[in-house]
Amino acid sequence: MSDSVLVIGGGIAGVQAALDLAEAGAKVILVEKGPSIGGKMAALDKNFPTLDCSVCIEAPKLSEVGEHPNIEVLNNAEVVEVEGEPGAFLVTLRQRAGFVTSECTRCGECEPVCPVVLPNEFDAGMASRKAVYTPFPQAVPGAYVVDIDHCLNEPPNYWPCHRCAEACPPQCIDFSIPLEKRLRREASAVIVTTGFDNMDPALLRQYGYGAHPDVLTAMEFERLLTSAGPTGGEIVRPSDGRHPESIVFVLCVGSRDRRFYRYCSRFCCMYSIKEVFQALD
Ligand SMILES: Cc1cc2nc3c(=O)[nH]c(=O)nc-3n(C[C@H](O)[C@H](O)[C@H](O)COP(=O)(O)OP(=O)(O)OC[C@H]3O[C@@H](n4cnc5c(N)ncnc54)[C@H](O)[C@@H]3O)c2cc1C
Ligand code: SF4
Ligand code: SF4
Repeated sequence: MSDSVLVIGGGIAGVQAALDLAEAGAKVILVEKGPSIGGKMAALDKNFPTLDCSVCIEAPKLSEVGEHPNIEVLNNAEVVEVEGEPGAFLVTLRQRAGFVTSECTRCGECEPVCPVVLPNEFDAGMASRKAVYTPFPQAVPGAYVVDIDHCLNEPPNYWPCHRCAEACPPQCIDFSIPLEKRLRREASAVIVTTGFDNMDPALLRQYGYGAHPDVLTAMEFERLLTSAGPTGGEIVRPSDGRHPESIVFVLCVGSRDRRFYRYCSRFCCMYSIKEVFQALD
């Protein structure tokens, strides 16, 4: 029987589960489909109920996971198949390359030379990033990755662009790394911590999301609140960069609605009140 546990999803739930298991002596395989662990919590400004800086609480846990001898972090990875039974699972995984080796020093020299500009998912699309980028400063594991789906050098070694590799002082951008690899791991148990996705509020046209630039999701508002966000923490209207005189918060969007989700999200009231307090601050 394997003493390993597979944790699928590297948000705060998966991170904490991995740390607890690893501290108890289990081997953990933490699988995250994105380039970094951290999930939604890393993008929040302050955390209810203490209103401490969210990433300040989470970043030490991310580092601990990255350095823990009992935890193997597989980023850019997804589970393809789980065979076997409780106590003896055999897991097949697919991991996509980031094309940056562990010698990356996070110097950032590669970013300005990259000609590809994309919406930055971490800033809820309100800022830009390059095709070679770090998801956020405290990202684990490693830091910089090449988003090969948007890189001009796609497929790898097509070579119409090599700017980032030429600019990289330790020469750690390597397009000869295979695009994808298959991995097999044994695990005695599987924990699924794949978190949540925001619904698309543009589906509810009465709120004007997508039609009016000043209608934001709560996640976008979090990025406006944070000093590390696209406006440096200034609450400004995306349409004209001016401070709004009043803000309307619409709760339960898409929840308890037969057309979308019949259930209550059970947390939009909590974070809306938090955001109201922060906006007043
Ligand atoms: C606007 C807003 C404000 C909030 N404010 C607060 C607050 O102040 N205080 C508070 O306690 N909570 C708050 N929350 C709630 C909090 O963000 C969540 O409870 C918490 O982040 C959930 O963590 P999680 O790990 O379960 O999920 P997530 O953060 O969603 O992480 C899931 C992870 O799993 C990965 N994943 C998904 N599918 C797969 C797959 N198939 N394979 C591999 N990986 C996968 C994802 O990429 C992601 O990294 C807020 C939420 C929102 C939307
Ligand atoms: S190869 Fe060119 S397009 Fe691709 S990440 Fe590097 S600089 Fe950007
Ligand atoms: S230039 Fe190289 S070492 Fe510097 S951040 Fe980019 S990949 Fe990392």
